[in-house]
Amino acid sequence: MKLIFATHNPGKIKEMQELLAGSGIEVLSADEAGVNEDVVEDGLTFEENALKKARFVCKKTGECAVADDSGICINALNGAPGVFTARWAGEGNDLIDFTLNQIKDIVEENLGAQFRCFVALVKPDGQEFLFEGRSNGRLIKERRGTAHPKLPYDQIFIPEGHIQTFAEMSHEEKHELSHRGQAFKKLKDFF
Ligand code: IMP
Repeated sequence: MKLIFATHNPGKIKEMQELLAGSGIEVLSADEAGVNEDVVEDGLTFEENALKKARFVCKKTGECAVADDSGICINALNGAPGVFTARWAGEGNDLIDFTLNQIKDIVEENLGAQFRCFVALVKPDGQEFLFEGRSNGRLIKERRGTAHPKLPYDQIFIPEGHIQTFAEMSHEEKHELSHRGQAFKKLKDFF
C-alpha cells in the first residue's frame, strides 16, 4: 500500500521512512506526489493541524495521506511553545538560541519537558484516524550531539531515564523512545 506523507520537513520524512521500514508500506513525500503547496498550520491543537495537513494531501492526490504535527511543551512555561513550536522564534531566528534564552533563568532541575505528536491518517473514502505519541524528559542548556536542522530540539532534550540527548543516540534508540516513534508504531500496528 502507498502512503503520502504530508510534510516538507526532510527530517520528518527520513524518520517516517525509517519508522515504516519493513512494514510493506511505500512512503512518498508530498513533493514526490506532486503536492508542493504548504498548508497553513493555524489550528490550536496538534490534532487539528495534523488532520488539516493530511486532508489537504489526500484530497490533492486521491491517495491515503498521513501527517504529523508535533512540538515541545516546557512545564515551567505552562506547556509553551506546544503547537506553536515551529514558529516560536519568529522568521529567520534560531529556534534553539531563542529557546535557551527563554529558559535561561530556570534552574535545570525545573526544566521538565514533553515532546508531543499526533499522526493523522486520512483515507480517500473519508475515514480519519489519529495516533498519539509522547516522550517525557528534560531540557539542558547546551547543545549536545548532531541533529537534523529541522528537528533541532534533539540536541537539548534528554528523555526520562537516560543521560544522552536524542541527538547523541542512534536513530533506532531515538525511535524507540520518541513521540513520533510511538505514534508511528500505533499507525503500523493499525495496518
Ligand atoms: P510541525 O510539526 O511541523 O509544526 O513542527 C514541529 C516542530 O517541533 C519542529 O519544527 C521542531 O522544531 C520541533 N520538533 C518536533 N519533533 C521533533 C523532534 O523529534 N526532534 C526535535 N525537534 C522536534
